[in-house]
Amino acid sequence: MIPGQFEYARPGDVGEALRLLRDREGEAKVLSGGFSLIPLLKLRLAQPGILVDLKEVAGLDRLDEAGGELRIGARVTHARLETSELVVGKYALIAEAARGIGDRQVRNWGTVGGSIAHADPSADWPAVFIALRGSVVARNVDAERVVPARDWFLGVFTTALAPDELVTEVRVPRPAALSGGAYAKLERRAGDFATVGVAAQLSLDGDGRISSAGVGITAVNECAFAATDAEAVLVGSKASEELFRKAAQAAAGQTQPTSDSHGPAEYKRAMTAEMTTRALRTAAERAAANRG
Ligand code: FAD
Repeated sequence: MIPGQFEYARPGDVGEALRLLRDREGEAKVLSGGFSLIPLLKLRLAQPGILVDLKEVAGLDRLDEAGGELRIGARVTHARLETSELVVGKYALIAEAARGIGDRQVRNWGTVGGSIAHADPSADWPAVFIALRGSVVARNVDAERVVPARDWFLGVFTTALAPDELVTEVRVPRPAALSGGAYAKLERRAGDFATVGVAAQLSLDGDGRISSAGVGITAVNECAFAATDAEAVLVGSKASEELFRKAAQAAAGQTQPTSDSHGPAEYKRAMTAEMTTRALRTAAERAAANRG
């Protein structure tokens, strides 16, 4: 189909973009990579009065460390996170998740800000930033808010973003020594959205006990969520296969999958347990090997 008519703006800075969102609230839609929005425009499921293209907005492509955090600008593509020297190794969970998103074209165009704002129930980034206890920075013309990723995703395609706000960046705490993460994604074919995706981030103390645990899960609930029951099982105990399986059962117990073309609900619950075990096992291995 052909999209309806809309105006098109290409602001050069964040302030100009935010003024457009304020002045045209309710009819303005932001365009980033376009890989989720353009299909919606073509189907006329989205019919904005004006499209605000972020392509030329300066400052949204930062990827650096500051204040003890990794700062990922909203316009940073999945492909950049897959290959960045800063990310690969130190933030293994992020690089691993990036590698599994869509195909090369999707990764070259799709952006972190777009994914976080769109909040597809099967998207990978929500689970990753929940596990890493990251936060989302949202700005309007007057103020900036820093919202924990655990409070950002509210339901199917629903987030804490207000209509006059822009996601400007995502922040992730820099992992300490003896910390490691992993992403385990079950997909029907390479490049598909997840049937289930599990992100795990673990920190160990000197005795091999788990001092902190983050587990984020996607595709088996209305939106990505923190598997807090699994985290409670893990923290304070020595890392072991038995512990991971117990935590994995707790994680599966927090899911509410639906039966669809990816498989019946019971299958998805079982696969959540399996993917959680795998993600925890790899995260613990990486944590033990990370001497800082
Ligand atoms: P856009 O399509 O430009 O925008 C999406 C939405 O977010 C729009 O509502 C837009 O207004 C809003 N928005 C964008 N940027 C901002 C901002 N900075 N502030 C506020 N609102 C904003 N994703 C996965 O996670 N895993 C996959 O395996 C996967 N596979 C895919 C396969 C295919 C074939 C396709 C087409 C997509 C796939 N995706 C997958 C989704 C892909 O990652 C998209 O790129 C992503 O969901 C949206 O990012 P975008 O930059 O394209 O955003």
